[in-house]
Amino acid sequence: MTPVNTEFAKLPGSYLFSTVAKKVAAYTAEHPDAEIIRLGIGDVTQPLVPAVIKALHSAVDEMGAAETFRGYAPDLGYPFLREAIAKNDFKQRGCDISPDEIFVSDGAKSDSADIQELFGRYAVIAVCDPVYPVYVDSNVMAGRCGEYDKETQKWSRVVYMPCTEENNFVPMIPAERHDVIYLCSPNNPTGTAMKKADLQRFVDHANETGAVILFDAAYEAYITEPDVPHSIYECEGAKTCAIELRSFSKNAGFTGLRLGYTVVPKELERGGLSLHDMWARRHGTKFNGAPYIVQRAGEAVYSAEGKAELKEQLSYYQNNAKTIRDGLVSAGFTVYGGVSSPYLWLKTPNNLNSWEFFDLLLDKARIVGTPGSGFGPHGEGYFRLTAFGTHENTVKAMERVNSLGLSHFMA
Ligand code: PLP
Repeated sequence: MTPVNTEFAKLPGSYLFSTVAKKVAAYTAEHPDAEIIRLGIGDVTQPLVPAVIKALHSAVDEMGAAETFRGYAPDLGYPFLREAIAKNDFKQRGCDISPDEIFVSDGAKSDSADIQELFGRYAVIAVCDPVYPVYVDSNVMAGRCGEYDKETQKWSRVVYMPCTEENNFVPMIPAERHDVIYLCSPNNPTGTAMKKADLQRFVDHANETGAVILFDAAYEAYITEPDVPHSIYECEGAKTCAIELRSFSKNAGFTGLRLGYTVVPKELERGGLSLHDMWARRHGTKFNGAPYIVQRAGEAVYSAEGKAELKEQLSYYQNNAKTIRDGLVSAGFTVYGGVSSPYLWLKTPNNLNSWEFFDLLLDKARIVGTPGSGFGPHGEGYFRLTAFGTHENTVKAMERVNSLGLSHFMA
């Protein structure tokens, strides 16, 4: 019998979105005329902006002419894109990141899942609870997480950093031994963002202990608060302890186009090895480059035209976030996030559990969201709504909630 990776068998089923889909399908079957509004989606809904479309068309034309055709892209990314990223995302924010510290990829999901390959089998990971599930699942597949306890919904070798109302959803540095710290700010799912002083504490801690921080900044574009860093490299000393993951999905609508990048500074070394060189080796071995046309589209994101158009698109989603936040607050809900994030994290009223509230919201207001318990045990009692719907639907959803009033969502 061929031995297989039995770690996969330990993974609990990913029931969250399939259960949501099943419940919605059952409700629709019973209420065929119900107009359901989906505010659970984590995908963008607005089309690519004209500057990006123009760049795509022109790159497609280049691919059709012998003189300008491109084959395999350089596996670490085309210099034109790496230079545009270094200048716009880092230099202009006062961060000293050079183009050759930027590794272009097909998105932050694959990078956030693959980056754990840099660490040894016995490295202990620390994650926020609730958390974007990819961080833990990718480590489970690599055999790093021990055993899963169904009751507590925890892995025996993972260190959890609870993010709760009591700590303002800011993770605390754990007391237990840990080697790799996953941070995501602005956070999915809580919609809250770490202030510079809080992030600096993690950077100082990592430099003191030799831990490595994996900083997921996929929602950086949504930041509106002045004391929230857009990059971890705004913190002093981050280049010797942190890797940053970025995505073009939510700032430029590339969820279907696919583009992202990871920054691994050259100063980052552990055990006498350069993590930058290791990631270059890994990328070169396992990745053949993001498509030329997509990288040209990525370059257009940084053009004057692209920036202006994307600013407008971003305001559309930010306005939705504000509409949801204001709507929920005026109905009497306790709500977090949505200020520097497209996610809103509402506390279920009357201590309902996340799934009970899901059923009530669907039944009473015909609104679909995502139960917080699906993101970890400390997500229980919370509920995630997103700003990615159309503005009309977002407004309509909040009108429904307000015309019913909080008491309708109590039991
Ligand atoms: N990181 C976080 C925290 C996310 O929420 C998501 C997408 O939902 C991603 C990464 C994935 O981004 P990408 O579309 O670039 O793969």
